[in-house]
Amino acid sequence: MALIVQKYGGSSVADAAAMKRVAQRVVETHDAGHQVVVVVSAMGDTTDDLLDTAAEITSNAPEREMDILLSAGERISMALLSMAVNELGVPAQAYTGAQAGIRTDSHFGRAQIVGMVPERVARSIRGGQVAIVAGFQGVSKDEDVTTLGRGGSDTTAVALAAALHADVCEIYTDVDGLFSADPRIVPKAHRLRTITQEETLEMAAHGAKILHLRAVEFARRYGVPLHVRSSFSENNGTWISDAPAHPELEGMVPSAALAHNQEDTMEEPIISGIAHDRSQDKITVTGIPNSPGKAARVFSICAEIGANIDMIVQNIPTADPTRANITFTLPEGDAKKTLAALEAARDELNFQDLRYNPNIGKLSLVGAGMRTNPGVSAKLFSALSDAGINIDLISTSEIRISVVTKLDDLDRAVQAVHTAFGLDSTESEAVVYGGTGR
Ligand code: ASP
Ligand code: MG
Repeated sequence: MALIVQKYGGSSVADAAAMKRVAQRVVETHDAGHQVVVVVSAMGDTTDDLLDTAAEITSNAPEREMDILLSAGERISMALLSMAVNELGVPAQAYTGAQAGIRTDSHFGRAQIVGMVPERVARSIRGGQVAIVAGFQGVSKDEDVTTLGRGGSDTTAVALAAALHADVCEIYTDVDGLFSADPRIVPKAHRLRTITQEETLEMAAHGAKILHLRAVEFARRYGVPLHVRSSFSENNGTWISDAPAHPELEGMVPSAALAHNQEDTMEEPIISGIAHDRSQDKITVTGIPNSPGKAARVFSICAEIGANIDMIVQNIPTADPTRANITFTLPEGDAKKTLAALEAARDELNFQDLRYNPNIGKLSLVGAGMRTNPGVSAKLFSALSDAGINIDLISTSEIRISVVTKLDDLDRAVQAVHTAFGLDSTESEAVVYGGTGR
């Protein structure tokens, strides 16, 4: 017997028929002798619809009321799914985030989990019931309902899996797992059978819309193996794990899932995948005095207004070595206020010019094999130059190389690099069963 947490995204529970199909799957897992905890997202586009309705009433909704509103989407799902499971003859009980013991801070709309006390959930499964938990929400110490940020049900599921010491957390979506690139850009993208948590973190942090970033962080910190798969097919998905799976789950684990931990890693690809991001903008502060403390001031100003800086490049024009240019990228939503704050500090910073470019795209090549294989950057840059694509900025981590290109060049860049690294699949194309990719 294993303890399995299953998370179903909005496209998997979009209507009554979908709910019944999911219930069937939950019951099959239960009947196979496992303890099952289910986390559900809001049905289909419910969260967006709730946001739209609120916007028709006010453009200035109190954050507390907004969180109560949005938490309702997941509550509808949990109740209906619980009914559907009971209907199939398996006892189930639904729990809100608060009832499931998910304690958060008081940051409405982006609350962080500060404690997990899933006693009722544990009791439920010990008594042979299926526990069904509303995703994306918790409760603050003031007993206000909070939400964890868009896509937060993934985090609910992984946090529960960690707290309950689950053997696996299955993330059900409408595609067959994680792909080597977004199949909408690269139709020949292949499904990854396994990927490490570290690589997944890099992919998610650099634009791959695969999992809620904090869910991956949780999984890594607490060593929760994740299996991302489709609720619309029986296919094996992608195993995200740095450790071998629980022996009792062996039958459910493709042997390749263990490859990361076996000696025979000869076949392991150097590159796992390519993430892309269109949501960043670029700012350059030109002609800032080339003296200690200036960069510190620029980025303190950014930090004070909560702008999340990504890449940073500083260079010194040969014409005037007393001045420097500082270029950085940031989420497009942070650009306006950052430009305004820097402009307000123009006299103090004594820069010459502020330049702003919203039309950039970022490609990130991710692979744990980069650590030990030279030549990856050379191959990346050649692939881009062969495709006639100019590189604007470059940044690296131990297992990632990111480049910024013109926004219009991004799709072509992803395709060219995918081919150059031999990632194109020879088999059938990736299937999106539902429609939302969640
Ligand atoms: N329903 C929420 C959203 O749409 C949370 C989730 O689906 O994970 O963002
Ligand atoms: Mg942009």
